[in-house]
Amino acid sequence: MATDKIATVADVGIKEQDRWKWDVSFRRKFFDWELEQHQRFLKLTNSVVPIDEDDFLYWKGDNAGLFSVKGLCRFVEDKKYGRTDWQIPKSIKQMIPAKVGVFMWQLQRDRVATKACLMTRGMVLPEEGMCNMCTSNVESSAHLFVHCEIIWQFWCRIMQREGQNWVVPQDMKSLLLEWGNWRIKTDKILWDIISYALCWSIWLERNNTVFNDKTFCAESVWDLHLARI
Ligand SMILES: [Zn+2]
Repeated sequence: MATDKIATVADVGIKEQDRWKWDVSFRRKFFDWELEQHQRFLKLTNSVVPIDEDDFLYWKGDNAGLFSVKGLCRFVEDKKYGRTDWQIPKSIKQMIPAKVGVFMWQLQRDRVATKACLMTRGMVLPEEGMCNMCTSNVESSAHLFVHCEIIWQFWCRIMQREGQNWVVPQDMKSLLLEWGNWRIKTDKILWDIISYALCWSIWLERNNTVFNDKTFCAESVWDLHLARI
C-alpha cells in the first residue's frame, strides 16, 4: 500500500523538534475494514524510534547484540527443541551417573528410543511397536514410563506412600516438571532421586524384555529402583 515500496527509513520519517515522526504515504485512502489494521501499523511503527548513531550489526540471538558461538548454539537449540524449564535438580547433580542424567534429559524431551520413536524415524517393527508389557498400546515414552498399567502402579505406590493424591500427568515432561511439587514428607534429596532410579530401572528391565526375551518383572524393577536409591 505504501507509495514507495523500497524507501529507506530516512525517506519515510522526519525529525520535528528533535522528535522522530514517521511519515509513510499510501497509494489511496483506507477502506473502513482496513482502518484497524492501519492503526495497528501506526502503533507498531511508533514503537520504533530511529537513533542518530551509525548503522551496526546486531546479533538478535543475544540481548547484548553481540555474536558468540555459545549464543548461536542456544538459539538453534531453543528453535529445535523449544525452551524447557526442566533441569537436573542441583541437590542431586553430583550423585546421578552421567548416563542416567543424559537419559533423563532425553526422556523429558521425548527423545528416548522407544518403539514409537523408532517408528517415527521410519523403522518397521514387529507387532506394530506394541508395548511388551501390556501388548495393547504403542510403546511411546509416555506409555512406557507413565501410563502402562504396571508402571502407573509404581507411581501410585510412591504417591500413596507419600500420602499424596495425584492426577497422572500426560507425559514424562510434565511428570518431571511437577515432581518437586508432589513431595510431602520424604526428604528432598531422596525424593528427587526416586524418579531417576525408577525410570532408569524401568528402562533397563524394558531393554531386557525387548532384546533378551525376558518377561518383564515388576517386582524386580521395584526392588532394583530401591537398591539404586
Ligand atoms: Zn504397556
